Amino acid sequence: MINKSNIRKHFLTRRNLLSAHEVEQLSRDIYRQILSTSLIEDTKIIASYFAISNEASLNLLLTEHNNIYLPVVKTNQTMLFAKYTCSHELVNNKYGIPEPISKQIISAHKIDVCFVPLVAFNRQGVRLGMGGGYYDRYFQYNKDKKKPTKLIGIAYDFQGSDTIKAQSWDIPLDIIITNKEVIKP
Ligand code: ADP
Ligand code: MG
Repeated sequence: MINKSNIRKHFLTRRNLLSAHEVEQLSRDIYRQILSTSLIEDTKIIASYFAISNEASLNLLLTEHNNIYLPVVKTNQTMLFAKYTCSHELVNNKYGIPEPISKQIISAHKIDVCFVPLVAFNRQGVRLGMGGGYYDRYFQYNKDKKKPTKLIGIAYDFQGSDTIKAQSWDIPLDIIITNKEVIKP
């Protein structure tokens, strides 16, 4: 039977097969695809993530842009975004993800672009995450905003699949950037 948790396991197993060298190479390809868009240049405030467990890394962005915010996990499966200052000012959260100790929290409506990690996606912009629902919860109000945050899924091309289906609470991605292409659903 195909259910969400089996699909997650399948794609996480596939991702775990990547060598450190492949992660580095594919992440560089993804970063190059990002630079081919105007997402970074035109944007003042960017939310991103700190990659763990073979996730595509956007760490180049942390060193090259000076207005980056990273997720900070709070209680009740919620998160906020706090300013990234430097690598020494990060501490592991309960998931083992380094997060800023900075108290500079950004209001959601000020974030222009958010780069979102994922486990799998489909070409209509549906995202399968780790199952915490953090991004769905944080951006649930996004659709009602005059100037919604642009949500950019960051993926390896092999994470794309038709088996991914949206559920009522899933917030869609506006763009998906892989090592091979920029997908606009
Ligand atoms: P992910 O997006 O990480 O893949 P899911 O979409 O499966 O995870 O969501 C995980 C859980 O989070 C679900 O049980 C869902 O009910 C809950 N959830 C998602 N969005 C919200 C929300 N806006 N309010 C309350 N619960 C939510
Ligand atoms: Mg979801």
